[in-house]
Amino acid sequence: MNIDQSELDKFEALASRWWDPESEFKPLHQINPLRANWIDELAPVAGLEVLDVGCGGGLLSEALSHRGAKMMGIDMGEKPLGVAQLHAQQSGLNIEYQRITAEELAEQHPERFDRVCCLEMLEHVPDPGSVVAACAKMTKPGGWLFFSTINRNPKSYLFAIIGAEYVLRLLPRGTHDWQKFIRPSELTGYCRQAGLEVKKIKGMTYNPITQIYKLVDKDVSVNYILAVQKPL
Ligand code: SAH
Repeated sequence: MNIDQSELDKFEALASRWWDPESEFKPLHQINPLRANWIDELAPVAGLEVLDVGCGGGLLSEALSHRGAKMMGIDMGEKPLGVAQLHAQQSGLNIEYQRITAEELAEQHPERFDRVCCLEMLEHVPDPGSVVAACAKMTKPGGWLFFSTINRNPKSYLFAIIGAEYVLRLLPRGTHDWQKFIRPSELTGYCRQAGLEVKKIKGMTYNPITQIYKLVDKDVSVNYILAVQKPL
């Protein structure tokens, strides 16, 4: 299976604090409205079948559910999924959560989803290309997919590891392994290999002085998000 247990363990240990906006998940809370809005503007989700791959505690799943999506979230972490289920229930949201890999779900449900999102997850799996291919398989022709991850270059080492984990302590040490970061050229390569068309890319920047995150057009040097479409 395309799983790295030591990566899953990192999230198991933190899961109970997933919905605490001041916890280790603060950066995810802060970027969540930005990415959910961007996704919904580019490819509206209301009334459609949407899958969140590597959903964790369910931040994106809930945001898209609030926008009217029929949501399903999958993850291989037991505790994050438990937190996601409980939180959706308490929020009165109908989201189907399941512990299954993208590859297994793709076998069961080819071309089921109108939108597939896989955010901040690919840099934690042994074979990201295999996840991209599975996401492509589950998407209906004409449907949209969204992938976000972290670029691999000296600046991303400085910002995403040294800056975020050691200086600003936004994330626990060891959250990310620089070698597993993915260049946009690599991610777009996986997408093309899976028969997907790359449509848009945005950078996600963080200003440590103002503590504000932004989606930007030009700077994809650290965090970025890709919008791709499966041809009709
Ligand atoms: N996508 C969410 C959570 C990102 S954290 C968000 O952006 O808000 C990364 C998540 O990926 C964790 O919940 C972790 O359990 C999950 N994950 C890591 N490896 C995985 C795998 N092989 N299959 C499914 N989920 C995985």
